[in-house]
Amino acid sequence: MLIVQKFGGTSVGTLERIRACAARCVASQREGHQLVVVVSAMAGETNRLISLANGLRRLGAQGSESAGKGPYVAASGVGDRVHERELDQLVSTGENVSAALLAMAIHDLGGDAISLVGHQIGMITDATYTNARIQELRGERIWSEVEAGKIVVCAGFQGLDAAGNITTLGRGGSDTSAVALAAAIGADVCEIYTDVDGVYTTDPRIEPKARKIAEITCEEMLELASLGAKILQIRSVAFAMRYGVAVHVRSSLNDREGTWIVSEYRSMEAPEVVGLALDRNEAKVTLTNVPDTPGIAALVFNRLAGAGVVVDMIIQNASRDGRTDLTFTVPENDLDRSVDELKSLDIPGSGQLEIVKDPDICKISIVGVGMRSHSGVAAKAFQIMATEGINIHMVSTSEIKVSVVVQERYGELALRALHAGFGLDKAPELEA
Ligand code: ADP
Ligand code: ASP
Ligand code: MG
Repeated sequence: MLIVQKFGGTSVGTLERIRACAARCVASQREGHQLVVVVSAMAGETNRLISLANGLRRLGAQGSESAGKGPYVAASGVGDRVHERELDQLVSTGENVSAALLAMAIHDLGGDAISLVGHQIGMITDATYTNARIQELRGERIWSEVEAGKIVVCAGFQGLDAAGNITTLGRGGSDTSAVALAAAIGADVCEIYTDVDGVYTTDPRIEPKARKIAEITCEEMLELASLGAKILQIRSVAFAMRYGVAVHVRSSLNDREGTWIVSEYRSMEAPEVVGLALDRNEAKVTLTNVPDTPGIAALVFNRLAGAGVVVDMIIQNASRDGRTDLTFTVPENDLDRSVDELKSLDIPGSGQLEIVKDPDICKISIVGVGMRSHSGVAAKAFQIMATEGINIHMVSTSEIKVSVVVQERYGELALRALHAGFGLDKAPELEA
């Protein structure tokens, strides 16, 4: 088989772990497989590099507008491009280190490996520094090395734009490098090795009773990833879905079967709810006393869109005396910027317009394709929250998810209550 194996930050976090990954690679090759490996930076390294850049910025910009703002955080196309270019040069180095070390470790164990970085791999992206999108993969070099019998160790997370500048794919981007590579070379499977046994019913660090899921559909995984489950980068799931890549998320610390991301459930009926996600990176903005006239929402949301702010939930209350309230959520990092944008907006007839911001909220989402055939999931969720005495601020639903916004301090409590309420701690594992 042709296999892509991706090792995340914790899996290559120490020299011992790098050696353990190398042993796994060599064993796979000895079983007769052809192997392309993608690595992340050693755990903590990307953060360390970003904080170096931020530290420098703070030194040079004391008191100025940009002081204290993490540039990689505000990756919405509004940062300054010179800085972002250098930031990508900087942060991409973390992956180069782990790729070279893993190739050396494979040699030490008697295997044959070569490490390659973004331009050698032919990973071509657009020019959106810190959050680039893959456009093309010119895989000739990888192929020729694989055919020469080598284990090809690729630095994840990085690419090259058309002008030859280094770009990076956003936090967690090595997942996307791996799945895109698997799609491009037609790998039989893309194995994502991480520090948990697979995809769980919710983040096991928050709910220790979370259970490993044997299989989950791309559609559900895409929702969970978009709604805050950081186990896989969203775009990696989108790639898997679009190109039909078989993805197996599993632990680098043991040999247990992990979670298969599938296009459809193979074995049984879809469960009503497959998993939950908690997103703490949300903030709420309420505009009160907005004139209830056509065009106001367009004005508000066009301004935010123009500033690169991605708005999530929106609620507009029934109008009283020709005035209404408009509430919406934005990423917490964009809260102050959003409020500044709105303050400078000239809304006709909004003499008493008030902007209230609330960073202390979070979003909990319930996901399952089974919702299409089971009614009452939202009602059941509301009942569980009521029993816990947790107030719901906002709700949004789609065909396969229900999201609720609550005060941040109740987020984990709500997550655990819903996890138990939907029987996710007890449900038998789906048969793979
Ligand atoms: P890597 O460095 O291997 O890419 P990440 O830290 O990016 O690893 O992703 C693994 C982490 O994702 C786990 O340690 C876990 O805390 C977190 N996580 C969040 N949601 C889930 C989930 N539903 N199932 C499993 N892990 C989850
Ligand atoms: N090293 C990068 C990050 O920490 C990419 C990755 O780990 O996937 O975000
Ligand atoms: Mg990751």
